Amino acid sequence: MATKLLLVGLVLALAASCANGFFCPEDLPSFPGVNRTEIVIIVLKAVIRGRVLTSEDAEYYERLRIDNALYKKYPAVIVLPIDEWDVSHTLLIARTQNVYLTVKGGGHSAAGYCLNSGGIVLDMAWMNATSVDTNRLTIYVQGGVQWRNLYKVMNTSYPDIRVVGGTCDGVGVGGFMLGGGISSLSRSYGLGCDNIINMTVVTASGLIVTVGNHSTFQPHKDLFWAMCGGGGGNFGVVTSMHIQAYAAPQPQILFTQICWDYRNTTAVLPWYNTWESTIPNAMTVYGWWRFIFGRKTFCLNTWYNGAQADGLAILQPAINFDPAPFRVYSEWRDYYDYELFYGSSTAVAESNAIIKSGTFPAGAFTESVAQVFADAIETAPSDKSLIVFLHLGGKMAEKANNATAYHQRTAHMAYQVKSIYNATDSPTPHTQWAQTLHSGLASSLIGAYLNYIDPFLPNWQTMYYGSNYARLQQVKSVWDPCNFFRFNQSIELP
Ligand SMILES: Cc1cc2nc3c(=O)[nH]c(=O)nc-3n(C[C@H](O)[C@H](O)[C@H](O)COP(=O)(O)OP(=O)(O)OC[C@H]3O[C@@H](n4cnc5c(N)ncnc54)[C@H](O)[C@@H]3O)c2cc1C
Repeated sequence: MATKLLLVGLVLALAASCANGFFCPEDLPSFPGVNRTEIVIIVLKAVIRGRVLTSEDAEYYERLRIDNALYKKYPAVIVLPIDEWDVSHTLLIARTQNVYLTVKGGGHSAAGYCLNSGGIVLDMAWMNATSVDTNRLTIYVQGGVQWRNLYKVMNTSYPDIRVVGGTCDGVGVGGFMLGGGISSLSRSYGLGCDNIINMTVVTASGLIVTVGNHSTFQPHKDLFWAMCGGGGGNFGVVTSMHIQAYAAPQPQILFTQICWDYRNTTAVLPWYNTWESTIPNAMTVYGWWRFIFGRKTFCLNTWYNGAQADGLAILQPAINFDPAPFRVYSEWRDYYDYELFYGSSTAVAESNAIIKSGTFPAGAFTESVAQVFADAIETAPSDKSLIVFLHLGGKMAEKANNATAYHQRTAHMAYQVKSIYNATDSPTPHTQWAQTLHSGLASSLIGAYLNYIDPFLPNWQTMYYGSNYARLQQVKSVWDPCNFFRFNQSIELP
């Protein structure tokens, strides 16, 4: 007992010295003969007011379930903080003992970057409070909110206020916003990150800092710039945000799905190629290939953020297209009710998945690109696999590529392939299939979308961040000079 108390005291003293400056872990003393991870667990259990889980706790395994089960990892400890002080203490304690730490929001990173083996997973799930200010039209969320937490509140109490959120209700608000955040409303209101007013971040030195569009101190401005599209898990832990919201034209949204046999891709996509640039920002048209309705199918999924009749009028050329769609389905539905109902339709849902992605400029969906998509869906080795593309442009394109760290503003479409298979199947045909599709598209791509993170992407620094990468590295050197926050594709020190 006395030894434990002594250890807790020593580690806290070290943590306090870390908070006063940047001592990289190799500069700090260690305790000979004592396992660093064991020390960390003892100290965390003594200090953290939330929960500290190890593999001896039943809930430990539950908390490690993420959307893509390909990435199974087992940390030494999971911390569930209840406030920014818990977060700050966890970071400082981890640093003193040089124990690796990753941050988990909604667990929907395609590459499982929220988990690690043998270190600490800082699971934000208990920090899930939300509130809505109807006068200012702003929304407050804590750093562990998943869209479903907020959408339930909005659906019940604020159906006529719009927030730029994800189409999967299990996605974390933090991960979504920090990676850019493309919503079916983004053509109307911009990216998720364009709508962050301010955010509170706990940095690698344990500092709790609020940065936002009000910031004037240059390092704060730089941190806010970097966090807006520069990605989760790179610079610090977001514990809360204030987000701009909007008065909805109507509480309902027009959702329409227009589907063809996949072989008609080569006719429909080249037409979409020019049509998508002509439609108003209130209309968003995504594409979707998968086995559904008893066949291999290509659908345009559309959302209209305006009056029902106006939306249907805009869609007439697609509905009346020759060759004719085999399905035209339309509903006029409460917006959040829709999101909660359809939310997880592209989820991997704890199967295994190889995921690849990229962004296209306007006019890239030529007949030959359409043929690549059609060939892919014809040869898909699994009926679970799917390909989607998001429709960009509109309000998202009104800012310059260097206005925030998000660098894909000139892109018009972002695609993602999810090659989904059972854990017991050989991955080879599924990996090859995704790779063949991606290679066929590669020469048409201009970049990649960070939230569609692709762990196999060569040259990812340029593909995600383009000319913003050098500034991101500078910001990293100021706020995380020991590279405490790191993973396979994290921002590197200059
Ligand atoms: C089914 C599905 C649908 C999707 N739909 C969309 C969509 O419509 N639009 C879109 O833009 N994206 C979409 N995505 C992608 C999604 O936005 C990203 O994968 C996002 O990063 C997931 O965030 P998360 O918190 O759920 O995931 P996590 O895996 O928990 O986190 C992702 C990354 O962010 C970091 N992170 C998470 N929370 C914090 C925090 N509070 N502070 C600091 N770092 C943090 C993690 O460390 C990790 O590196 C979808 C993904 C899936 C699986």
